[in-house]
Amino acid sequence: MASDIYLDANATSPVLPAAIAAAVDAMEAQFGNPSSSHATGLRARRILDATRARARRVLGAGPGRVLFTSGATEGIQTAVLSALVAVRERRAAGESCGDLLLYGATEHKAVSESLAHWNRLLGMGLTLRALPVDETGRHRLDVLGALAPRAALVCTMAANNETGVISDLDGIARTLRACGSKAYWMVDCVQALGKLPLDLANTRIDYAPFSGHKLHAPKGIGILYVRDGAPYTPLMIGGGQEGGQRSGTENMAGVAALGAVLAALEDGGTFRSHAELAALRDGLAAALREAFPGVVFNAPFEHTLPTTLNFAVPGVSSRDLLDLFDAAGVRVSAGSACSAAKAAPSYVLDAMGLPSWRSSGAVRLSIGPLADDAFVAAACARIRHCGEALRTRALAAGSSGVMQVSGDGRHGWIVFDGDACVVIDPPRGQAGRIAALARDAGLRVLAVLGSGADADGAAELRAALGLETDDPLDWPAACGTVALDDGSHADCIAIGTAVLARLPQGERTVYLLGTADAGRLSRTAVRQVFGAVDANVLARVVHDSTVLCHGADTDGLACATLAASSDAGAPGQLHPETLDVFLRRHADALLVDVREAFEAAAGPMVLHGRAADNVPLSRLAEHVAAWLTAPARPIVFVCRSGNRSAKAAACLRRAGHAHAWTVVGGMALAGAA
Ligand code: PLP
Repeated sequence: MASDIYLDANATSPVLPAAIAAAVDAMEAQFGNPSSSHATGLRARRILDATRARARRVLGAGPGRVLFTSGATEGIQTAVLSALVAVRERRAAGESCGDLLLYGATEHKAVSESLAHWNRLLGMGLTLRALPVDETGRHRLDVLGALAPRAALVCTMAANNETGVISDLDGIARTLRACGSKAYWMVDCVQALGKLPLDLANTRIDYAPFSGHKLHAPKGIGILYVRDGAPYTPLMIGGGQEGGQRSGTENMAGVAALGAVLAALEDGGTFRSHAELAALRDGLAAALREAFPGVVFNAPFEHTLPTTLNFAVPGVSSRDLLDLFDAAGVRVSAGSACSAAKAAPSYVLDAMGLPSWRSSGAVRLSIGPLADDAFVAAACARIRHCGEALRTRALAAGSSGVMQVSGDGRHGWIVFDGDACVVIDPPRGQAGRIAALARDAGLRVLAVLGSGADADGAAELRAALGLETDDPLDWPAACGTVALDDGSHADCIAIGTAVLARLPQGERTVYLLGTADAGRLSRTAVRQVFGAVDANVLARVVHDSTVLCHGADTDGLACATLAASSDAGAPGQLHPETLDVFLRRHADALLVDVREAFEAAAGPMVLHGRAADNVPLSRLAEHVAAWLTAPARPIVFVCRSGNRSAKAAACLRRAGHAHAWTVVGGMALAGAA
């Protein structure tokens, strides 16, 4: 695979080489404790003082406090604690301080969670209230004006981490001033450092937390600015470091590295200007428009940092887009990195009132101010490649097979051969997708069939395809019959060279797919069965390795065989460090990439010099029987992260293949090249 293109700078950024050098120096040569009074300590102290002096100048901190913290989350805690303790003291002295803790609806969770936590711990009894934003993501100043007289603390970020939307801090300050608010004001400046001008001492802002790792310093170092005269309560007490304001021996490697980043900011020449970054952003936006026609940007460029693009592509989920980009070696995220593991819609975009497809389909692409023209040109080329890969068809006329289509925990099946297909048990809500798959592949839909499980999805699909039928099973009138091995005859239809026979079973129907010979569908010629049926009935008309395709499952495995056993044991697990040896020892092992076809097109999988065959998880039912004919040949399933390959290996193992393996951690850890 080509080298990584990292476009997730709002999550974290690579460390500036000068910052790495400074950190190494602080660990090797200048390793002293800045509180020690000997020369080694004094040399460390010089680094601490120099970094603080730089920070003061870069932030425009004036006489305010500038403290080093472990990052923005700690800075936020400290600010919230300081403000609430002061409110409590003022209240105890009889002053009315307001009953609201007001925070922007699009704030990072560190803010709303800290407010709730400290409000509860300190027994303040204040009410948390989200300040709404408009459709451009900026705070509703009219609502702020109405609520601010009741606010004890107001929290508004300088720029949003998901959308890059820049807050109107002057407008907020004006509004607070106009209503004579005495609320403390915290501004989360994490995404502003190096991207927006800062002159904190000349603002009304009381607290401003920063985080080093968002601007090319390492993780674990941050800054908290506190306005001169604003109340302060230490979060950590102990040895009295940071003038007693934040105890604990300083993270000197982090401080030194941050110092190098601040020096680069102050001295100029390292980071790109706003105008240069805006030009790079325009290039990225043009590449996205070309790659994904119909792409929509979720925040207007005139109000956003030029380093952040948040977009959605109609008809494509953010999960699919992330898989696509990752396969191509392009690292982006859906919303914030903290919520990336949960496939929930973005609360930031929801707060902006965007339609749910844009919020649940959102992808964030962010660059750092170090980005240069060559990097962005390479990123644009890779984005265009992703666009082409996404147009890879999941199905193509002229071949034959079975594809699983899932939705809402149910599974349906598209059976195709030549230029025709039949859909069995389509799940609800999948009609548009199935119709598009068939249309794009040039497949004629001969029938939409139900096994009796749930007819709604079939009715939806028939309506989407304009098929009219009185028969709830939609069985075509023009059908033939085939003889089965139990001596009975069954109605059948031809799909290309295959036949699909139906076996009514009381209220339900079972379908057998295979190749007939001289009017006979013998049990060994039945490749797949659709619909639930008694195993004893089936045993008379199919063979042990016929694949049973279910409409539902409990553990993500939609197909099995008659011989399948639920106590087959877990499939083998190959750990990244053992994969190479395993593949060398088993030269005959089949490497199967179970990612979707568009992912394989975006970045084919090659592991330790071996190219993997691509069999998407949705096409497993088509291949299981063939794999079972060589039960001694190891099959190694791989995917992006190890989830899908674990399902495939478990399925094959249950079907009776003793040598089904999954690569734990997926290709990211397995050294795909
Ligand atoms: N605030 C914003 C806007 C952020 O983007 C982040 C990091 O994602 C944080 C706060 C938390 O920062 P840290 O990782 O330094 O604790």
